[in-house]
Amino acid sequence: MTCQIPVKHDFVSRRLRKVAFALIVGTALPAFAAEKWIEIQSPHFVVESNASEAKARDAARAFEEIRSVFQTAFHGIRVDTGERTLVIACQDDDSLKSFLLDYAAAKNRAQLGGWFQPTLDTDYAVINVSSYDATENAYHVIFHEFTHGIVRMNFGPIPAWLNEGFAEYYGNTVVKQGETDLGQVTEGQLYLLQTAPMIPLLDLLKVDIHSPLYNERNRSSMFYAESWVMVHYLRSDREALQNHLLQKYFIALGKGEDAVSAATEAFGDLGAFEQKLKAYLRRQGFSFMRMKPTARLDDKALVARPLSTAELLAIKADFFARSGHLKEAGPLAAEALRLSPDLASAHEAAGYAAYREGDQAKAAAEFMKASQLDNKDSRPPFYLAELENGAQATAHLEATLAINPDFAPAQSKLAFAYLNNPATRDKASGPAIRAAEIDPASLNYLANLGEIYLALGRSQEARAVSERLTRTARTPEEKAMASSFASRATGSNN
Ligand SMILES: [Zn+2]
Repeated sequence: MTCQIPVKHDFVSRRLRKVAFALIVGTALPAFAAEKWIEIQSPHFVVESNASEAKARDAARAFEEIRSVFQTAFHGIRVDTGERTLVIACQDDDSLKSFLLDYAAAKNRAQLGGWFQPTLDTDYAVINVSSYDATENAYHVIFHEFTHGIVRMNFGPIPAWLNEGFAEYYGNTVVKQGETDLGQVTEGQLYLLQTAPMIPLLDLLKVDIHSPLYNERNRSSMFYAESWVMVHYLRSDREALQNHLLQKYFIALGKGEDAVSAATEAFGDLGAFEQKLKAYLRRQGFSFMRMKPTARLDDKALVARPLSTAELLAIKADFFARSGHLKEAGPLAAEALRLSPDLASAHEAAGYAAYREGDQAKAAAEFMKASQLDNKDSRPPFYLAELENGAQATAHLEATLAINPDFAPAQSKLAFAYLNNPATRDKASGPAIRAAEIDPASLNYLANLGEIYLALGRSQEARAVSERLTRTARTPEEKAMASSFASRATGSNN
């Protein structure tokens, strides 16, 4: 889910990338040699940083803490995606710009505190730790995006207001030494809500990704603020909690109701509910939850080691290749390999850059080498499978999943690989089911499962998938997909 927080969606066009390239080749390489970077491995995250070790540890603790906040707040919730999360904690704005090339090339733009870049196999959180001294809710953007990841894994597609409201509510979690505050008010949003005209509730509920309210910069702030206060009300107001309004809303959504009828069922008369929200906004103080840190990590749980120049170059090359800067990625990966010919991560980065550039032979050779050097990284075998067919592709996908069974794209591809071979056809549904479980928000995986059932002649199960698709689809694209599948599923006999 990419969302539209103004601070991170203000990026520049492609024509500026030439400038960025000149920057990186001309000045960045010599600077690396002098920079001291460390890596902190925490139980669930990897932090790469050129800030002080203490600040790098703080960043690792903050990420472990927000993960733990969800575990505490929602019993039985899944908190780990199949993608790895890499936190790049930069010491200052210049270091941040050495990763965020579009930001570096943009003129007159507001200073950025952080950037979240989800990719197929890795989620990158690139942050400037120096901006984190100045403000209390410094991790807001990153926690906001992290929340989207959790919501996506656990709740499937939900209305835009609820998705962004959740992300704003949990995004504003404040992690300090010895305490964590959940549900703190964002002063800016509160001010906006109390001084500017609000979006009528009915319009807010109907917003989807195509809505001008969601996309237009000048209105998006109110959309976020209002979504936030709705969730704050539902999570904090005594009466809302006593009446289990949020649970009721989820139950109504689960029955396939749209955002408005689910709200009517759960919240009652919407006009009255809107008045309650406005009254909530006028109150003098807002409650929040102050908790003892739940992740409770001592220094021993955070293992630090220095990064070599080659390792840093490989990380940058990898990030550039996965964030649309292929031209910059290749030379950095080559330099990393020159410095350290047996560095698995450099081969992986070189392989991915070649893969994206369409150089299949080079990509295959680099991924093979990366795989031999590091058999714990699930990415090289996954991309090797993309480059192969038949039994070899199947073997690479099985190898990928042996390392990372929660990687939905590999599960879904394995299902089709099994289907296409008479000897494995019978087990095709297993990985397809798993992919749909891992990533319930992506209805493509559910539709793929339906296709597998149809191909296997399991019509009853195909129809059950079709019903689920129809019930869950929210956007016009999802609805079109559901209806296209339904016409084929109901057309099949048996
Ligand atoms: Zn968002």
